[in-house]
Amino acid sequence: MKFSFIPETLKFKRPFSIAHGSRDSTPVVFTKLEYEGIAGYGEASMPPYLGESHETALAFLSKAEKVLQKFKHPEKVEAILAEVDNIQTGNSAAKASVDIALHDLLGKLQKKSCWQMFGADKEKDLFTAYTIPMDEANGIKGRVEEAQDYKLLKVKLGSVNDKKIIEDIRKRTDKSIIVDANEGWADKNAALEMIQWLAEHKILFVEQPMPKEKLDDIAWLTSKSPIPIIADESVQRFSDIEKIKGAYSGINIKLMKCTGMHEAYRMILQARRLGMKVMIGCMSETSCGVSAAAQLAPLVDWIDLDGPLLIKEDYFDGVKFSEGKIILQDLPGIGITPAIPLFK
Ligand code: MG
Repeated sequence: MKFSFIPETLKFKRPFSIAHGSRDSTPVVFTKLEYEGIAGYGEASMPPYLGESHETALAFLSKAEKVLQKFKHPEKVEAILAEVDNIQTGNSAAKASVDIALHDLLGKLQKKSCWQMFGADKEKDLFTAYTIPMDEANGIKGRVEEAQDYKLLKVKLGSVNDKKIIEDIRKRTDKSIIVDANEGWADKNAALEMIQWLAEHKILFVEQPMPKEKLDDIAWLTSKSPIPIIADESVQRFSDIEKIKGAYSGINIKLMKCTGMHEAYRMILQARRLGMKVMIGCMSETSCGVSAAAQLAPLVDWIDLDGPLLIKEDYFDGVKFSEGKIILQDLPGIGITPAIPLFK
């Protein structure tokens, strides 16, 4: 198998600020895996909190290239990904870019969509959340109008303006809202008071209310909360589920955190076994990463895959968005084609 990769920078339509800081772009690396003239594509998107960068991803992918060259055929998915994972710890987004390219390639060789390979029902309504950034109290009217197609709004909170932001949105719409605090609330009593207030304002659930280190406080919050509390920063890989069991109502799975589709699928099954809710989310990603995640979307409770809608330029054609829903294609692999020449 031939493996290549290129670094790029994704620019956002507008900067967004979260508890981790304000950003207007994110580093990505695109990958291409070829076998007998057929190519599969992958993506690594690297938000700062995961600790990856162009440098770390490129160094890791050079090592992965040697592993991939050893395998004659892409069908040994489990063995290939285990070997790539064992190169070194971390590098979850870079690992995901290998996993996605491998699944895309395998689907194309088998002439099967990945949603088929995972036994997912393509005809299910796949409503995705649409993100309204915080610190934009003045712009909220425009943001709510921009989101008119979407049934589910996602609001990033974690500042002193939290209640004002929700009140401003609630003046304009009674749509379901999910709140992502991005670890932004430091005190458990204040967080509980806030969550109770949010529940009265028809908030569906709260994602990562407090810093992941404060697991006991979060478990206490979940036991008292009238709405589900979902882990994002607290759960990256499969092995993390065991550590947070009982402390959260559910988990937010992202391919860039968990090393890709193979592990994401195992995490969905494991969460189900434990009676946990499952959400699938994304980083700032093109239609490559998001089309990969979308293949698993019929298997989860909530979908937050608005990545391609929030970037200036998409590098791939992939899943379509229509009336607030993600539409899976009847195309092999993850159903994408490069929208601009990428690998010359
Ligand atoms: Mg989150």
